[in-house]
Amino acid sequence: MRNILLDGAERFGISLSDTGLEQLERFAQILEEENKKMNLTAVTGSEEIAQRHFLDSLGVLCAAGDSIKNASVIDIGSGPGFPGVPMKIAEPSIRLTAVDSTEKRVAFLQRLFESLNITGAYGVAARAEELANNESYRESFDFAVSRAVARLNVLSELCLPYVKVGGWFLAMKTAACGEEVDESARAIAELGGQLDGFFDYEIMGAIHRIVRIKKVAHTPAKYPRRFAKIQKQPL
Ligand code: SAM
Repeated sequence: MRNILLDGAERFGISLSDTGLEQLERFAQILEEENKKMNLTAVTGSEEIAQRHFLDSLGVLCAAGDSIKNASVIDIGSGPGFPGVPMKIAEPSIRLTAVDSTEKRVAFLQRLFESLNITGAYGVAARAEELANNESYRESFDFAVSRAVARLNVLSELCLPYVKVGGWFLAMKTAACGEEVDESARAIAELGGQLDGFFDYEIMGAIHRIVRIKKVAHTPAKYPRRFAKIQKQPL
């Protein structure tokens, strides 16, 4: 696993510290152990975990650029910690808030932070569309990141309300997301975002794409709406 991580990180221009490598190796062990008891991930085996979870998450760090240093980052629908936790391990100056609606996944994250001695990372059990109305969270983050939670028009309403004006929403998608991006244009603009561009990289032969959205205006107070409404009538 160590060589896969070192080579992959180097391709992103990221240098992993010895502590970071040890934390990722331990994270993989804990993930495999706990995955036997609860459903955390379909990805198993150290090589697949290194590629599909850890390096994929580091793609977001690379797409974020230098402004991610010392930044506050919220990971929406983090599940067992992707992409937020590998980002935090590779760039410890990040202040990470990992949100998931499933309490047992957040309890897993809290145990993980403790086992890996990670400080400055918090797990919050909440629905993203509800937590965004809490003023301690709304428009309070430099970055919102998310993988595998919803289509971009729905995801934008879950993520953009958390981002400060001037900050970024980085959505993890694949190279086949063109139509999804096109259908989200109205939602992104209505929520105060602006499409900035894409960052492409390869994971196990497939092209993954980060959609970079800049927050250029405040999100109107009426968003996010209730989840049923967001899903039924995406912006
Ligand atoms: N991001 C992780 C990854 O890529 O491995 C987990 C992806 S999993 C397919 C989707 C996660 O999003 C689940 O853990 C689910 O509980 C969470 N989720 C879905 N809708 C959510 C919402 N409205 N608010 C918070 N979490 C949500």
